[in-house]
Amino acid sequence: MPLLPIIDVDANSKASLVDAQSALGAEQLAILESNETLLAWLKSQQQPAWRAQAIQRWLFGRRAASFDDMTDLPLSLRTKLQNRYRIWTTSIVTHAVAEDGTEKLLLELHDGQRIECVLLREQERRTVCISSQVGCAMGCVFCASGIDGVVRNLTTGEILEQLLRLAHLLPITERISHIVVMGMGEPLANLDRLLPALATAQHPDGLGISQRRITVSTVGLPKGIDRLSEENPGYHLAVSLHAADDALRTQLVPINKSSGLAEIMASADRYWEVSGRRLTFEYVLLGSVNDSPEQARDLVRLLGGRAALVNIIPYNSVVGLPWREPTQGSRERFLDVLRAAGVNVQVRRRKGAKIDAACGQLRRLAAQAIQPISTTATKTVPKMPPSQTAQ
Ligand code: SF4
Repeated sequence: MPLLPIIDVDANSKASLVDAQSALGAEQLAILESNETLLAWLKSQQQPAWRAQAIQRWLFGRRAASFDDMTDLPLSLRTKLQNRYRIWTTSIVTHAVAEDGTEKLLLELHDGQRIECVLLREQERRTVCISSQVGCAMGCVFCASGIDGVVRNLTTGEILEQLLRLAHLLPITERISHIVVMGMGEPLANLDRLLPALATAQHPDGLGISQRRITVSTVGLPKGIDRLSEENPGYHLAVSLHAADDALRTQLVPINKSSGLAEIMASADRYWEVSGRRLTFEYVLLGSVNDSPEQARDLVRLLGGRAALVNIIPYNSVVGLPWREPTQGSRERFLDVLRAAGVNVQVRRRKGAKIDAACGQLRRLAAQAIQPISTTATKTVPKMPPSQTAQ
């Protein structure tokens, strides 16, 4: 099926071009990075604290692309904001749109690193999938994001900017309804920066998204799950299993060696006890690797009757990796075993497969200068000058 013809540089991209061309100075701060810093600066400018809320509402609710758009702020304050702050620290390298409405952005950060984020449309839902790190240290063998390891954590502002970039792809009458932190990186390895970003996403002056509509997806770091239990038990937790025995899982997800499935399941149970939220377990189905009926029975045993949802994700092939998609037959047999055992299971549809929507694929293709066959728009914009130290 042909993809939709795309896309002129949209208003958002134009905004980033303008920002980039204005050659912002190194002393400028990213407005999304820290509300505390903004409050302190407003105080130093003899401005009331509520201006910070007004600025947030302009950014997230009214999707201002520049300080000039914030027309109910005094002109003098807008000028000062322009000198002190910038809204955009990323530029859009690639904007791909699939026929099913899925849109994917490849963003270049201030230091030249690249990350991906995705907007998925499904009936009334507008779900965004965001990254938490540049690359990933978990080393899942079938994943494009982890091939080159982790480069660095994303900052709070960079996590929020993905949400803003994706929100700008929607008409103003539509809003992001759900967030999944399931893009590049292991979210629980960057909780210090992720949690403040998600707090802003929930805030009424931010995106106003209920905690229950935010999913944090992890490969299963028990300490991280326990910290999440202690601090923010309201999020929906999705744990990626991919295998139900430690030997195979360690082959597929090398980090498994340091904890093992028993410890991961115990920490997931603690999260469930504290949050009351039904757990989700993800299982990427790889052809002839983890898709046999026997392996499905192993999974049933591991789940042990837990009230959980199992998401089966038929593998998306990745250029340069040897793994195969499961056949229709093996997929059905696997699902039959789970359903017969009373497991609550769903198959995650491969939305945006034609634009390489699996995490890390677009970044990798771009890095290799391979033109993704199914990407229908590529726009390169000038790089922002470095002005922030990576955290
Ligand atoms: S699947 Fe997720 S956890 Fe595994 S390497 Fe890829 S991004 Fe990291």
